[in-house]
Amino acid sequence: MSILTAEQIAIKQAAKEFVAKNIIPVADALDKTCEFHPKVLAAAKESKIFAMAVPKEYGGLDYDALTQAIVLEEWGYGCAGIGTTLAASILSMDSVLIAGTHEQKLRYFKPILNSEIGSFGLTEPGAGSDAGAGKTTAIKQGDEYVLNGTKCWITNGGYASVYVIFALTDPAAGMKGLSAFIVERGRPGFTIGTVDHKLGIRSSNTVELLLKDVHIPANNLLGKEGEGMKVAMKTLDMARPAIAALSVGLAQRALDECAKHVLATFTGKNYAGQTLQFKLADMQILVEAARETLHNTMRLRDAGKPFSKESAIAKTFCADVAMQVTTTAVSLMGSYGYTHLGKYMRDSKIMQIYEGTNQIQRLVISRAVLTPAPAPAAAQKAGI
Ligand SMILES: Cc1cc2nc3c(=O)[nH]c(=O)nc-3n(C[C@H](O)[C@H](O)[C@H](O)COP(=O)(O)OP(=O)(O)OC[C@H]3O[C@@H](n4cnc5c(N)ncnc54)[C@H](O)[C@@H]3O)c2cc1C
Repeated sequence: MSILTAEQIAIKQAAKEFVAKNIIPVADALDKTCEFHPKVLAAAKESKIFAMAVPKEYGGLDYDALTQAIVLEEWGYGCAGIGTTLAASILSMDSVLIAGTHEQKLRYFKPILNSEIGSFGLTEPGAGSDAGAGKTTAIKQGDEYVLNGTKCWITNGGYASVYVIFALTDPAAGMKGLSAFIVERGRPGFTIGTVDHKLGIRSSNTVELLLKDVHIPANNLLGKEGEGMKVAMKTLDMARPAIAALSVGLAQRALDECAKHVLATFTGKNYAGQTLQFKLADMQILVEAARETLHNTMRLRDAGKPFSKESAIAKTFCADVAMQVTTTAVSLMGSYGYTHLGKYMRDSKIMQIYEGTNQIQRLVISRAVLTPAPAPAAAQKAGI
């Protein structure tokens, strides 16, 4: 078990209580109705959840990365769909933290602190893993940009009030012409397209965003023209551990439910011997290893060390652990598992897909493995 500070333990406990009161009681019903729930957001506002990633100077709580991961694990424990809603808002904020000016941060964080949510629009039809293949354009006209294109599978898209949208300011330059923008809801020409029906995380909202001659002020550009891919990749480095944290929460929940069921059902039965015990032990080993991998990544980030490879490892390993542990839990519980624990298994699958599939993460990790380590003096200078 990772060593946490007294403050982190208190925050974890508060997050647990929030989840027990506001998320667990509604999670199954929202999964059935595929409903996004504003009441959870209202409760989140009261508990200041949205403020955890916002810097103090903008009115937020400014939790470090490890503390955020601790809270995200609890959200994943309660419901990975609601967790995804809350995490996707932080994802969009990360781009603003990375590239935004003081004025842009003030503007972007204000609605978030008021319990509204943000959304991050990178993926397009034919441009998922190959994010540089997007076709949405943002052409400068005087002191405005005019956006045209379609984004797909965008979390929170139907409910967000602020968006970070990636579009080509120089279409001929391909991914080198990609730029990042703040787009506010309600701009003429900005509409919501198809709402996707999903295998899992059904209470999260996933939609198409349609941009048709959407005018935004030039000062909505995040960073400089052509820096979009850099902003997107840095954002995803920062945000992937959030998926790892939701995954650890999901896996822990499946393990807890399974252990409860085993205790209640199999105690005293002769087939409830080591086969079951060893399976539960293997699940526990995986969950703890996943949590440690995640916490190590967050500690590197908090120490200002490079963490790109570790972020990819954490996302991949924790997502795979969630898939494995939830599947084993269903198997151990037989028909009861199939009828009562299916949500955890369904919710786990997306962890291996969004924010860069686990195959793409393995490409990132193998590239790091194949890159020679810097000489000790250079490494020390770079703070590695
Ligand atoms: C519920 C949900 C929520 C989402 N939320 C958001 C969001 O908020 N914002 C956003 O921008 N996007 C979002 N996405 C999109 C998501 O990030 C992409 O779907 C994901 O990156 C994969 O892209 P793709 O679906 O186009 O798959 P593809 O890129 O078509 O990949 C298909 C398969 O090919 C493999 N593959 C592709 N390229 C390679 C390669 N070079 N080497 C090896 N294998 C490869 C993939 O790993 C995968 O197995 C969301 C998607 C879903 C389903």
